[in-house]
Amino acid sequence: MSAVIEQTIETYGIGNWGADYFGVNRKGNLIVKSPENENLTADVKEIIDDLSKRGIHTPILLRFPQLLFGQIRKLQTAFKKSIKEFDYQGGHLCVYPMKVNQNRAVLEEYLREGSRYNFGLEAGSKAELYAAVALDQADDSLLVLNGFKDREFVELAFAGAQAGKNVVIVIEKLSELDHTLKIAEEVVTENPDAKLPMVGVRVKLYSKGSGKWEKSGGEAAKFGLTTTEILEVIRRLNEAGRTDMLKLLHFHIGSQLTDIKRIKNAMKEAARTYAKIHQMGIPIEFLDVGGGMAVDYDGSRTSFESSANYNAREFANDVIYVIKTVCDDENVPHPTIIQESGRYLSAYHAILVTNVLDEIETVVEDITPMVVDNDDPQVVRELHDLRETINGKNYREYYHDALENRDELFTMFNLGLISLEDRGKGEVLFWDICERADFFAQQKKYVSEEFNDLRQLMCAKYLANFSVFRSMPDNWALEQLFPIIPIHKLNKKPTEYATLCDVTCDSDGIVDKFVDLHDVKPVLELHKLVKNEPYYLAMMLVGAYQEVMGNNHNLFGVPHEAHIHIGEDGHIIKKVIYGATLGESLSSARFDAVQLHDQFRRRVMKKIKDGELSTKVGNQLIEFYENQSESYTYLSPNGSSED
Ligand SMILES: *Cc1c(COP(=O)(O)O)cnc(C)c1O
Repeated sequence: MSAVIEQTIETYGIGNWGADYFGVNRKGNLIVKSPENENLTADVKEIIDDLSKRGIHTPILLRFPQLLFGQIRKLQTAFKKSIKEFDYQGGHLCVYPMKVNQNRAVLEEYLREGSRYNFGLEAGSKAELYAAVALDQADDSLLVLNGFKDREFVELAFAGAQAGKNVVIVIEKLSELDHTLKIAEEVVTENPDAKLPMVGVRVKLYSKGSGKWEKSGGEAAKFGLTTTEILEVIRRLNEAGRTDMLKLLHFHIGSQLTDIKRIKNAMKEAARTYAKIHQMGIPIEFLDVGGGMAVDYDGSRTSFESSANYNAREFANDVIYVIKTVCDDENVPHPTIIQESGRYLSAYHAILVTNVLDEIETVVEDITPMVVDNDDPQVVRELHDLRETINGKNYREYYHDALENRDELFTMFNLGLISLEDRGKGEVLFWDICERADFFAQQKKYVSEEFNDLRQLMCAKYLANFSVFRSMPDNWALEQLFPIIPIHKLNKKPTEYATLCDVTCDSDGIVDKFVDLHDVKPVLELHKLVKNEPYYLAMMLVGAYQEVMGNNHNLFGVPHEAHIHIGEDGHIIKKVIYGATLGESLSSARFDAVQLHDQFRRRVMKKIKDGELSTKVGNQLIEFYENQSESYTYLSPNGSSED
């Protein structure tokens, strides 16, 4: 591999966050590797070119089901090994939390691979449950129901059980238990042999997780039963003669748990609770340890918010070891461990590819040489002096002076003391000083916060054809980092520093924090844009939460989607699903395309009637308008209409 390619792999950190799924080929293009055989690869640039030939333009979400399979196997293998290593007597099963990505293709692909290991589903709402009861899952897999439930929700759970599913209703509130017992009575009266759902309880642990979702755990958590409430559940089950329904103890201390120590503490507490319930003579079998396995988005392997200080194997070892130790100590059988990992399984499989449309310049390049003489105001002359004499030694001080001068410039302008020309000169000089100060600062080994901010101010702003709110909402809402990398030109050194602006008209629609091994980068190394040549960027690891949390801000709809298989001869495009059109996007705001067409037509007809438009032009306008309702909500690649 060429030295430049090795360097770019390091610049973008592929080896750190890529989990061995990604690489760069000799052409300098980003590739995705098949987890079963890393010699089978798909060239992302070629995929985009192929799709482009079919008239499907970026932004496009690429889905690689094989990466989902890869993660499933990684998790399954990790637990299988730990179970063997520690001679653990219980099993390990996963239930995929649907809220992470309910997309039908994702669920079906997950079940296809997961069914080999009896992996099931977790639903947290009536709508999710509604889909789950109909989907095919392995006979021995579970369907675990979390979240608040009304009577209808519980009825749907019973319907699922009668249709053969192994449903577990996890009690979050005592009223849910009452619904459950009442409906059980009704069902059994009708059919004494009916298959009933199992009951679980979610315990409110004292232990908390770490990271952004810390509040999901601890005494003040939204979900979970206190010790007295759990005892009350058992009392009511007892009273109804149905303690045999209680099969599962559940806890979930948050998503993206960054610190393994916290996880271990929660495991200890939960395992202890499990053992005590078992000792009460309850035939409880499952210990559901929730989700939360983190994805190392920045590849730093630290307890930083976008990272994790453990891998699947360490996680499995700790879970198995802690639970075994507690259960042995309490003399109860080892439970089957249920895991609800969603982020970990689905983050890797989806990549959003988009094109950079343009560069938005902050600093005017090629400043015309200006004359500054004694007639100019003092503030302009001082800025001029600073610019002429700034160097590697004094740049910090001179930069500070320039900041002061700039403030003075504006104050004087506001007081009417200097002209528009003077202000213009001063501004140009100021930016010139910034550029030089930035240059000198970046030569230093240690760049201070202040000059990092300056770098961000000075850097290029690349206008990328996507919506942060639609496709990377967690970056906007939670400052969650996602790796971003060009899909081509990786055999060329990136020479520009840039931040990204999206195409929404919201000033929050920017990406200005990037993954870095040691810190967070304020700018991303990118290639210089070449006129009339596309430049594509990939937003990586967006398969968990981003699609489903993304919103319609500015009416940018869902992007095009392509499902890719990596085979012997590279990629195979299995399926293309078109992204939202203007008409579809508007319907999300309760508009009706037909009605809009009528209204527009009426306006034009009136203009024709009034003699302000010819019939020909009027009809063309109407036709143009109606056709637009079928067009993509994102911008065309070259600024002109596509197809
Ligand atoms: C959100 C959620 C999960 C999934 O968490 P991940 O961090 O995606 O693994 C699992 N269980 C429950 C109860 C949840 O609310």
